[in-house]
Amino acid sequence: MRLLATGGAGYVGSHVSAAFRASGHEVAVYDDLSSGHEWAIPPGTPFTRGDVRDTSRLEAALRSSRAEGVLHFAAKCLVGESVLKPDLYFDINVVGGASLLRAMERAGVKRLLFSSTASVYGNPQTSPIPEDHPLNPVNPYGESKRDFENLLAAAARAGAVRYASLRYFNAAGCAEDGSLGEDHDPETHLIPNALRALLPGGAPLTVFGRDWPTRDGTCVRDYLHVEDLADAHLRAWDRLCRDGEGGVFNLGTGTGSTVLEVLEAIRNEAGRKVPVSFGPRRDGDPAVLVASNVRARRILGWTPCRSLADIVRTAWNWGQTPIKNVERRR
Ligand code: UDP
Repeated sequence: MRLLATGGAGYVGSHVSAAFRASGHEVAVYDDLSSGHEWAIPPGTPFTRGDVRDTSRLEAALRSSRAEGVLHFAAKCLVGESVLKPDLYFDINVVGGASLLRAMERAGVKRLLFSSTASVYGNPQTSPIPEDHPLNPVNPYGESKRDFENLLAAAARAGAVRYASLRYFNAAGCAEDGSLGEDHDPETHLIPNALRALLPGGAPLTVFGRDWPTRDGTCVRDYLHVEDLADAHLRAWDRLCRDGEGGVFNLGTGTGSTVLEVLEAIRNEAGRKVPVSFGPRRDGDPAVLVASNVRARRILGWTPCRSLADIVRTAWNWGQTPIKNVERRR
């Protein structure tokens, strides 16, 4: 089928778009390149550089690509930044989302997969977290994603859209073939920061807190390989097209790793210890975030099959690829 991926030049968007192309779909890209990269768009891909709040431009991109559906990744996604600039987060994630729904309506496109987040849950009351856990986001990022989920639900009730909302836990790792990877600026995520600490001249990684109520005092997260994440999108999309059924799905492995366990996996892969310093807790970090993925397994027939070692290996491999190094030299 023909799809338009908003944010298709970003980290998750580029990997998911690649998986759709590999299964025979045509994926055009709409991205403002504020955090995405031109090198993440394969040559020959129809590409529109634009802002999601620009409804007319979106409509034109939907029409010119003759899109039959949308993969909506375009968003601001840094918790810390959202606390400082809440207006920007609501503007892009909610107003931009509304603009996309308007453009879809005008272009006659009804199907959508939405890139949501575990941040909609806030501090979990139970672990692992099921989809019916109360939504109590604790920062503007999570609030903006929850608000757009609410808007989607209302639009679906009005018959304007059919959608699935995919709540990501910690997307991590890079393409197995080394063609795509994670490159944020600024980089705030644990695994790329830990790998950077291993590069010549790399500053030690700061571990945020060692007094958490967890097995080794560091935070527990559910790291999911981005290609397993992509596979879940394909399954959700197939179901949406086949049965017209959407829904909300947590995407995680169901197992958590502490920061120190991640650093140990990196030591195994790289053969060297990541230099670290221990700092205070980071504001807004819950101690433990682990997905219940029972619903995605049962309804989508999805099984995440890549391990933490695979995540670290592919991320390390990517960190050494020419594209990455060219980009870094700029
Ligand atoms: N973390 C850390 N040092 C860093 C980045 C992250 O100790 O430089 C910790 C962070 O406190 C959290 C975990 O690593 O417990 C994962 O953080 P990340 O930013 O990768 O993802 P998040 O869980 O915030 O979405």
